[in-house]
Amino acid sequence: MKTISGISVFPGVVIGTALLFLEDNPEIPRYSIAEAGVERELARFVEAARDAAGELRRLKESAHGISREQEDIFGAHLLMIEDPDFHYQIKARLESKYENIEWIVREVSRELSQKLVMSPNAYLRERAADVSDVSRRIINRLLGQKEFSLAELSQDVILVAHSLLPSDVLAMDRSRVKALAMDTGSGTSHTAILLRSFGIPAVVGLSNATREISGGGVLVVDSEEGKLIIDPDTETIQNYRDAVERNRKLPGKLRSLKNLPAETPDGRRVVLNANLDMPEEAGGTSFYGAEGIGLFRSEFLFMTPGRSAEENQLQAYGSVLKAMGGKPVTIRTVDIGGDKAVPGFQDRGEANPLLGWRAIRLSLSLPEMFKTQLRAILRSSPEGTVKILFPFISCVEELEDALRLLEEAKTECRKKGQGFSDHIEAGAMIEIPSAVMTADILAEKSDFFSIGTNDLIQYALAVDRGNEKVNYLARPTHPAVLRFLKQSIDAAHNRGIKAAMCGELAGDPSVTPLLLGLGLDEFSMAAASIPSVKHIVRRVRFSDCQALAEEALACTTYRQTDGLLREWAKAHINER
Ligand code: PEP
Ligand code: MG
Repeated sequence: MKTISGISVFPGVVIGTALLFLEDNPEIPRYSIAEAGVERELARFVEAARDAAGELRRLKESAHGISREQEDIFGAHLLMIEDPDFHYQIKARLESKYENIEWIVREVSRELSQKLVMSPNAYLRERAADVSDVSRRIINRLLGQKEFSLAELSQDVILVAHSLLPSDVLAMDRSRVKALAMDTGSGTSHTAILLRSFGIPAVVGLSNATREISGGGVLVVDSEEGKLIIDPDTETIQNYRDAVERNRKLPGKLRSLKNLPAETPDGRRVVLNANLDMPEEAGGTSFYGAEGIGLFRSEFLFMTPGRSAEENQLQAYGSVLKAMGGKPVTIRTVDIGGDKAVPGFQDRGEANPLLGWRAIRLSLSLPEMFKTQLRAILRSSPEGTVKILFPFISCVEELEDALRLLEEAKTECRKKGQGFSDHIEAGAMIEIPSAVMTADILAEKSDFFSIGTNDLIQYALAVDRGNEKVNYLARPTHPAVLRFLKQSIDAAHNRGIKAAMCGELAGDPSVTPLLLGLGLDEFSMAAASIPSVKHIVRRVRFSDCQALAEEALACTTYRQTDGLLREWAKAHINER
């Protein structure tokens, strides 16, 4: 028996049989060609790229029930296959090297993906997998190899791969793949996004799992703890069987929670909201019992040229407000730069983009763009209940400037006779240590706080959230982080405003009792996580959670706190 630790992408416990999927490119031959052969090789490439694109389109059409985000991944691959610049690079390399086209495609794609891997920008690094996906598809065509497909599996499996590609996830028989273990990957890759949206328990970033495992062996994927257990002994299997049985009963139970309030037995009521990346996803959030949108990341509007025009933004915000039918929608003003690459706003030669021109800093330095967004939000407000959230506030001056521009935007709307709701709340994201330390001052000017733990942990502990080498240090239960959370929540309450959280931590049920105990009022998370968090809220007593928070704050190490949370859960949740 051997246990390997990795990063959990979607929680669950699965015992099953390993299917080893060695998806590397087949051996690619390399040989010289005569000058006269260039045209023929090029024609082979064009045909293979066309076939590969056709295959992707077919896959997209046959993949029923996929979301807009998943469709976009197909779209990105199609764009790449048909990209004139990619075709130009292939042709230029062929005409200078006189080598067979399979090798040329491999070389051009490898260079492209290496450039992306070296990028300081996490988003671009993740796109390297997309380049490999596309080139593998074309090379397989050129070599006459049938694309190995995970679409027809005859039994339930735990899929083990070195680097599963997004199109593999889209194509695979998801009723048969019960869990996934992968050597590479981080929580923000396209592959991880897809696994999470399909609700497949998965652990990624396992380094050498494929070398340790033989196909057909027994595995346990414990993605609640981020662990893969190879050849588990009888006792381990029995322990995990109990967990599987508990989890099996959960989905039905969780669905039955949909219309029940997120309230502890001793009467502490909190609000559970959904995070939203694309307007089209809004309608689906009520299925999970979302009470509103706690974070609408408006960055998507700036990813596609032309989509950020005021009327387009108005339409996008209005559609979300309508879909939510009066439930509150918190629109965060654009948060681009740093690790969020957006065409036209990136690669400006910044040595430290994570400490650079991003989010509110970018908005304040482009006031016309910022006011366009604010006007669009204001104008959308009669469609429902809207709130405005400013990201990456580091000092009170930034909040004051943002509020001043909001007033200017209101005046501009009034002048044009454009109506908007009377009272629109405006809040600050607390995601930089300086904001925590001045939360009492920021609270004077904010209608609410929303704590962004993804960035707060990154900046509090000096750990790049996209860097898997140092990710193990990004501990939400680090005493510094807990003190920051307490200080932010207390500052909000002292001023009589609500404290929300929209970082990933808000959707982690293992810390729900602690967050409740710290006094958090609103939790915003991936919609699919809402039932599990509500399940916990409805089982624990608020007074017990408060005592837990006090104990956690007295812990001196994250290990101690993690142990405390585990023991507490055993005593207060599992055994009841
Ligand atoms: C955060 O930093 O926690 C957050 C919610 O914002 P984002 O992940 O978009 O940076
Ligand atoms: Mg953030």
